[in-house]
Amino acid sequence: MIILLRIFTYVFLIIGFTGTDITVAMANCDSNSLGVSRTMRVNTNGGLRVGLVQYADTLALRDHEVVLTFDDGPIGHATQRVLDTLADECTRATFFVVGNMARAHPEQLRAMYRAGHTIAAHSNRHPMNMNRMSQARAQREIDAGFESINTALGSLGQAAPFFRYPGLAHSTSMNNWLATRNIGIFSADVMGDDWRRISSNEILRRTMRRLNQRGRGIILLHDIHNKTASMLPALLRQLKDEGFRVVHIVPTNGRFRLANETGQIPADQGFSR
Ligand SMILES: [Zn+2]
Repeated sequence: MIILLRIFTYVFLIIGFTGTDITVAMANCDSNSLGVSRTMRVNTNGGLRVGLVQYADTLALRDHEVVLTFDDGPIGHATQRVLDTLADECTRATFFVVGNMARAHPEQLRAMYRAGHTIAAHSNRHPMNMNRMSQARAQREIDAGFESINTALGSLGQAAPFFRYPGLAHSTSMNNWLATRNIGIFSADVMGDDWRRISSNEILRRTMRRLNQRGRGIILLHDIHNKTASMLPALLRQLKDEGFRVVHIVPTNGRFRLANETGQIPADQGFSR
């Protein structure tokens, strides 16, 4: 009986590990869905700086691969519309969450996590001047952001060791400090400009134009804006129609469980807070 149970467990584990999108597949996903083409495990040990808007490097994406990222939430209605659209297309994103927002909407954050999205950090109160703050204050802001997210997630899991500066306002000293904490810094390759006073159509147009110029990249959008939520179905359809594929990024270090999987990504190497 014990042996049978063990075999069953192994089979279950194998299905869990190899079939990342099995649960999603049961939710009416088919070849017409945008889906997730692959999961990229990103190692942030010793630091990482990616995003061609600011840095010389970006993630090792192949031609026509994109990483979807959303900042500033969770906020409630607009975030829910974004989550629903991602679910409709059976795809996954990375959410750079503000600590205060996580505390205000813990249930939504947990739903985001359970849906398999990567939860990353975007400070605690979203100060736009982290590049001009004292180092001590900036560090507290980042620590508090991770802490708020992890408190809201509770026993479900933890934030990935991925960080994006509010307003992308980085400084060399903070970049160096984040590297000592094994936290990766994510800028962007393609900006949607959805924080500007432009229409949904214009957000879509700029995003696709810039993406086509680069051919691949980390796309930065905001889940707090209804106009972003409104244009997202069209963006995901256009990505699919133009042959783009979504890569889901997860950390190799830190404790992080993929939702809907029985397994946990191994190795708690070094990411300690
Ligand atoms: Zn932001």
